[in-house]
Amino acid sequence: MKTPPRVKRHEAPESSPGAPASRCAATTLDGTHCAAHPMRGTDLCALHDPATGQAARIAGGRARTAGLRFLSEEQAREIKISDPKAIPDTLQQLARWAATGQLDVRIMNAVTIAAGAATRVADTIDLANRIETLEAALQHGGSR
Ligand SMILES: [Zn+2]
Repeated sequence: MKTPPRVKRHEAPESSPGAPASRCAATTLDGTHCAAHPMRGTDLCALHDPATGQAARIAGGRARTAGLRFLSEEQAREIKISDPKAIPDTLQQLARWAATGQLDVRIMNAVTIAAGAATRVADTIDLANRIETLEAALQHGGSR
């Protein structure tokens, strides 16, 4: 039986001679510095060290969710559902991110549902405007 990898938690000051770095050297997908403590003998945390990362991802679904599969703020700004014409490109981009493991499929599904709702709302507004135009034309005697 393997014990799950442990993230070393020590309160020693960063400047201790010979002490390991206090933070993992890896950068997360959103471009920020990984905040986890590195493992002994490496400057990477259990999640980012290739030797243990897979085991850590399996053991800690929460860590995976927190570190790997949300979009960055910049990526999230690519999500545009208020303009129905922008929705196909948005969904295509999200599908690519999901297919390459950069985005949780549940997030892609949530955006897809929201995009469908936004499309229906836009269609309803468009239909209401057309009916209003027709009614106005009828009240003014039909043909112009
Ligand atoms: Zn890390």
